[in-house]
Amino acid sequence: MVRLVLYDLIIVGGGPAGLAAAVYARKRLLNTLVLTLDIGGQVLQTEKIDNYPGYLEKSGMGLAAAFEAQAKEYGAEFILAEATRIEKEGDAFKVHTSAGDFESKAVIVTGGRQPRRLCVPGEDRFFGRGVNLSLRCNADRIKGKVVAVVGGGNTALQRSELLSGFAARVYLIHRRDCFRGDELTLVRLRSIPNVEFLLNTVITEMRGGDALESVILKNTATGEERELRVDEVFLDIGRDIKLDYVRHLVATDAAGKIITDKSGRTSCEGLFAAGDITDTPYAQVIIAAGQGATAALTAYSYIKKRPGEICY
Ligand SMILES: Cc1cc2nc3c(=O)[nH]c(=O)nc-3n(C[C@H](O)[C@H](O)[C@H](O)COP(=O)(O)OP(=O)(O)OC[C@H]3O[C@@H](n4cnc5c(N)ncnc54)[C@H](O)[C@@H]3O)c2cc1C
Repeated sequence: MVRLVLYDLIIVGGGPAGLAAAVYARKRLLNTLVLTLDIGGQVLQTEKIDNYPGYLEKSGMGLAAAFEAQAKEYGAEFILAEATRIEKEGDAFKVHTSAGDFESKAVIVTGGRQPRRLCVPGEDRFFGRGVNLSLRCNADRIKGKVVAVVGGGNTALQRSELLSGFAARVYLIHRRDCFRGDELTLVRLRSIPNVEFLLNTVITEMRGGDALESVILKNTATGEERELRVDEVFLDIGRDIKLDYVRHLVATDAAGKIITDKSGRTSCEGLFAAGDITDTPYAQVIIAAGQGATAALTAYSYIKKRPGEICY
């Protein structure tokens, strides 16, 4: 039987937390594998990052590329794959993924948050053909089109404002009668002539042929339904933490986030967590990166305390 390579450290997730962990792990010469669905995480979906210290370029893609280049420069190995289950076997871990199984002495999970879906008929069918999940938008593709943004937070408000610059019409659809986003953006948005607010309104179905053509709207106050012609729908209805692959190993809080101590330890020895996936109160790039670095240093101490390990 072929024995798998035993990595020192496997990092699940390639967002700010995972990439910062990779840099710190490699600086400590840990043999490190990053298993991730993408390289950059939520930063790839961010138009503008203007609060990451020292990073003045402001593009989300640019920051993700800088993180990636640094982690690769220090020699972190990357495999694009989905982690489907982590098992603890003795004092080692086996990570099952869509690209095969991998083993390590320690694991850091940094799976972040994934965009929430409406789960209405037609949504899956038109995904990528009119239905967009909080992705950066391509101005040329949207130019002159009728679009709808669904959500009530800052992301939805900012996206509506941005889209109003090149779409013919923007419908901002929100299930409640008031917004969670900040007042300043809301005041600006109210003064834009091609933005229309549809409050107390939900989408119940998406319709079309090869691509999305319309949505069915329901007024939650009156129950009244109507069809609205739209070319594109942007969903900005929040994000969920998905722990299917690791929930059986770690303690979570009431919100379903992994509980960690301030050094990134979880309730499972040798398994660490960092970033938005943890019970940190703030979902921010700098915080995720800081937690990733902390978890990597704690993982290093954990690995080096094992009998027979070489201390540099
Ligand atoms: C639209 C938007 C705007 C934002 N604006 C800002 C801002 O201006 N400033 C700021 O500081 N923060 C901002 N944030 C928040 C910030 O992006 C997040 O807090 C940060 O990216 C969290 O980093 P993370 O590494 O914990 O998780 P994520 O960035 O979510 O990365 C998670 C990674 O794990 C991978 N992954 C998930 N599940 C699996 C699996 N099963 N197997 C393998 N890989 C997996 C994903 O592919 C991804 O690479 C914004 C977020 C969004 C969505």
